Amino acid sequence: MGSELAARRLPMMGTFIVTALLARAAAEEEVAVAIVGAGYAGLSAALALAEGGVDDFRVFEATDHVGGRTRNVDAKTLRMDTANDDVLEVGGTFVAPGHTALVDFAARLGFPVYNVSGSRRGLREPSKTWPWWWFGVDQRVDTDSTLAPSTLYASTGNGDFSSPEELRAAFPEDAWAELEAAGAAMANLAASVGCEAHEDDAWAALDGSTFESWIRANVAKDEARGALRSMCRGMIAQEPAGVSLLFTVRSLKGCWSSGDDDQYRIRGGTQGPLLALAARFGGRVALDAEVVAVTASDGRWRVALRSGVHVFAKYVVVTGPPAVVAKIRAPAFSAITKQLLQRMPMGASTKYFLIYDEPWWRAFHSGQVVVTDPDPATARDVYVYACEDHSPYSGLRGRGPGALLCWIEGACNLRFDGLTDDERRAHVTSLFAGALKNDSRLYAPTHVVAHDWKAQPFAEGAYTLAQQKAPGLFLAGSDYVAGYGAGYIEGAVRSGQAAAAAILGFTTSVN
Ligand SMILES: Cc1cc2nc3c(=O)[nH]c(=O)nc-3n(C[C@H](O)[C@H](O)[C@H](O)COP(=O)(O)OP(=O)(O)OC[C@H]3O[C@@H](n4cnc5c(N)ncnc54)[C@H](O)[C@@H]3O)c2cc1C
Repeated sequence: MGSELAARRLPMMGTFIVTALLARAAAEEEVAVAIVGAGYAGLSAALALAEGGVDDFRVFEATDHVGGRTRNVDAKTLRMDTANDDVLEVGGTFVAPGHTALVDFAARLGFPVYNVSGSRRGLREPSKTWPWWWFGVDQRVDTDSTLAPSTLYASTGNGDFSSPEELRAAFPEDAWAELEAAGAAMANLAASVGCEAHEDDAWAALDGSTFESWIRANVAKDEARGALRSMCRGMIAQEPAGVSLLFTVRSLKGCWSSGDDDQYRIRGGTQGPLLALAARFGGRVALDAEVVAVTASDGRWRVALRSGVHVFAKYVVVTGPPAVVAKIRAPAFSAITKQLLQRMPMGASTKYFLIYDEPWWRAFHSGQVVVTDPDPATARDVYVYACEDHSPYSGLRGRGPGALLCWIEGACNLRFDGLTDDERRAHVTSLFAGALKNDSRLYAPTHVVAHDWKAQPFAEGAYTLAQQKAPGLFLAGSDYVAGYGAGYIEGAVRSGQAAAAAILGFTTSVN
């Protein structure tokens, strides 16, 4: 009886062993390069590798779509992850003239940029009367600047001004004088640091304090403080207490994005080029493929997916926001990299859209609509940093939907979470009411779309910055770039291309 049972079990065990071996074979793959993340950094690396002759790569993306912090939504159908002239971008949107790597990348995939300086920036006509620092974000000190109206709106409350001079007149004289002095002081600080240097004495001195502590020490008037804080929120969706003075000064100096950082948009939406590239790469881009560990294994890297699959690769490029990358078990990251990842809080940002069949306000309101709550630091029932006309390409040309957008950023974003859906909508609508003559159409949007980036599991926020290069594995992405493009899509593209170039360099020298 015993031997009979044993005889019956043997084939079954054999089947089990074969099945297990087959499963193991299926659960292990071997590639030259594994790329974690299918945002701009990851897919730029993939394209550069393919163009360099390395086709043996796989991109592992944790979510069910490519794009990362760029994502399109069709304003007519609300379909996401599609590219056409009706799309709105719920994440990264604008392109600066100096963002040449992105412009080139997008153009090669059939997505040209279009100029929105006329449509979006009706109030930002170049004017030599405004000091460069007013622009706030990434304006080169040697460039004649334009005024950022939203900075002023934050202090003057809701408004609809038709010229910089009107804005200037609405600003209290003493606060204006303070801002001029603050601007001159910041210009001096900007002149004292370089864009490329690392950890020199001047950097260390500025890195020791936050922008908020500098504001408090140098500016007394609430309106002036509010203007500077608002500039910071617009810059990185964080409160001034959360960013260093060094970061602020380097941004003002234009280290990462010389010139207007919102002059262009990509026709088809910023996610468009990545959707096209993923289609081209086919099975080499795996969706729903979260990487949980990257460990060394016999001279190779073992990339472990949550599904249980292991991929062995000669090179690995890790991308993704620091808060998310920090959760990947990667012992090979140096101690300093791990410390750095822990110290990079993500900004909180929601883009809140009211969408209409057409941008009806354009019939009577030329140029940009900008309205903003007063400074959230002094008014606690404030939720919104800035709002504007943010229509898609088709709407801007009068043949498609229109969209009004509010940015809910920094501390306001956390407060906004405490409102009900109805309260949020009523609040955002009320901000536009004055500028749009309380038109009844304002209250009847076809859709409301709110995209909260801190709630996205593989973003956990909007953006952050570390001014340090990570040794060890290749760590690519807009948040880790030490040079030009940092914090922007441009930085993601450049860092992805740089990682690929290094890998191609190794490959060439080895072969
Ligand atoms: C609201 C908002 C507005 C913005 N506006 C602009 C703008 O106007 N102009 C501009 O230039 N930039 C803007 N940005 C910034 C820009 O979008 C980002 O800097 C850029 O898209 C980041 O690209 P990335 O490839 O470095 O990272 P990501 O886009 O975050 O890509 C990383 C990818 O990795 C995936 N991933 C993460 N962890 C894992 C894992 N463990 N396993 C597998 N996959 C993983 C993620 O899902 C994601 O797809 C904005 C961002 C936000 C959120």
